[in-house]
Amino acid sequence: MGIDPARPALLEGTAPRNVFTRRDHHGDSVLDADVVVIGSGAGGATIAAELAEAGFDVIVLEEGSYYQTRDFTADTSAMVRQLYRDGGATMALGSPPILYQEGRAVGGSTVINGGMSWRTPDKVLARWDRELGLSGIARELEPCFERVERRIHTAPMDPEAIGNDNLLLKQGADAKGWKLIGNLRNQAHCAGSNRCAFGCPTGAKQSALVSYVPRALHYGARIYADVHVDHITRHGKRATGVYGRVSGSGHRITVRARLVVAACGAIHTPALLVRSGFRSPSGQLGKNLSMHPNVKVVAIFDEDVTGWKGAHQAFQVREFQDQGLLFAAVNMPPSILAMSFPQRGAQLGQLMQHYDRMVLAGMLCEDTTTGRVRTINGQPQAFYQLAEADAANLKRGVVLLSELLFAAGAKRILLPFHGAGDLYGPDDARRLLNRDIPARGWEVVTVHMMGTARMGTDRTAAVTSSFGQVHDADRLMVADASLFPTPIGVNPMETIMALATRAAGHVIDNATRFLS
Ligand SMILES: Cc1cc2nc3c(=O)[nH]c(=O)nc-3n(C[C@H](O)[C@H](O)[C@H](O)COP(=O)(O)OP(=O)(O)OC[C@H]3O[C@@H](n4cnc5c(N)ncnc54)[C@H](O)[C@@H]3O)c2cc1C
Ligand code: SF4
Repeated sequence: MGIDPARPALLEGTAPRNVFTRRDHHGDSVLDADVVVIGSGAGGATIAAELAEAGFDVIVLEEGSYYQTRDFTADTSAMVRQLYRDGGATMALGSPPILYQEGRAVGGSTVINGGMSWRTPDKVLARWDRELGLSGIARELEPCFERVERRIHTAPMDPEAIGNDNLLLKQGADAKGWKLIGNLRNQAHCAGSNRCAFGCPTGAKQSALVSYVPRALHYGARIYADVHVDHITRHGKRATGVYGRVSGSGHRITVRARLVVAACGAIHTPALLVRSGFRSPSGQLGKNLSMHPNVKVVAIFDEDVTGWKGAHQAFQVREFQDQGLLFAAVNMPPSILAMSFPQRGAQLGQLMQHYDRMVLAGMLCEDTTTGRVRTINGQPQAFYQLAEADAANLKRGVVLLSELLFAAGAKRILLPFHGAGDLYGPDDARRLLNRDIPARGWEVVTVHMMGTARMGTDRTAAVTSSFGQVHDADRLMVADASLFPTPIGVNPMETIMALATRAAGHVIDNATRFLS
């Protein structure tokens, strides 16, 4: 029997009542709702569930498809094709270009994220409060964090789900006397299968797909998957709804709503607002793009590490957090790792024979500069130039991380910049400090894009209010990573969810104004 090439890579199963997919559309449709939410990720799913629970009639439109836990398999390339926008290969232009990744599915990037669940650091909230006029935000977010953590089950890892690569990271940090903390993750008895970035096959990870989305559905929200929203409709400054197209058929779907919430993520929300004709007098729409640059090193040990067993990131090294640096051990499947090496052919084969003895360690660097998202022919294009100061911090981080890995017993370390020789001991690592590595030489990736519709009370400096209401527009809100006025230095999912919870509370408290 031949293989049907048209068969979808994932088994898109039967959807629950109130989830509509491309197969449910047989022509153009016009729908009415109190609230239409565009995007179903960390921000969109949260605000949709909170508003539905409060009795609002909510429609969510999501460009990606609807998959369920049983659809998530070990076929990495199929998962990447289905769950990642552009197969995970989108670039921010600059020197070096920065590869970034976003989810595109019901549940958004939470379906493919690592599950690290951190509150916004106190010092960041203090700064937002003091310098950016977001007074009282720390106090107001406190109950939102508690609520989010209950909904997504933020919890420490079960020890048996922690893999050897992470235990080696801990061993190295302990040997150096550096601060390391156990990760809080949105999981319930994670089985340590290390597939978080390709859809959790056990359902242990409490992504929006298995937490906020079912909650929203339970309270009557309708979710339309496979719908790309082209445009927000408006009457003067007032948003009146949206229209979009169903993927595959091109059927048009129009939603008339009293409140429109853009939650497409920090790259797509500014483009949607711009192509819908909204302008911000602040001039900040699309600007202020933080990327939390991420580089990796690969350490090879003498003994088997089997880094593919155990949860995606069980610890974070926080010793250098004040200097904007976080370290973690992050395993990748062989097919993805092999693509990231410069070697090819037999040389690559030889290197990959060490796969079982490798520890992949990643470093997040808080950036001191920002880029921007431009909307070109209606589509977003990110531009970001890695600052020389941040490249210098990356170099320092690579040296420190390599020292840690050698302290854990690594024999050889492969580096993330062009033309680098391998390291064979801590002295080699320290010698890097004297080496000139220009910003353009780094291999940088990111999964944390933020800030392109920054919130703030001053409408001449910010795109939205602290609740995400777009300044100088009516009935239009933003509820996603675009809102961050500054980088936050830690993984952003919980901050996004807490801001969306707070925004929902504001709408609920002012329901008559929003529903009139
Ligand atoms: C691989 C990976 C690992 C990560 N690991 C972590 C982690 O461990 N911890 C953490 O805190 N953060 C992590 N993150 C980041 C975190 O998941 C994101 O910051 C967060 O999900 C962003 O939330 P959001 O609501 O802004 O956007 P998203 O969650 O990306 O949701 C946006 C949704 O909008 C949809 N959309 C966009 N445009 C349109 C349109 N025009 N019409 C209809 N729908 C549209 C998209 O398809 C998408 O589903 C990770 C991200 C990735 C990609
Ligand atoms: S490691 Fe845990 S959370 Fe990640 S995919 Fe496996 S079971 Fe799910």
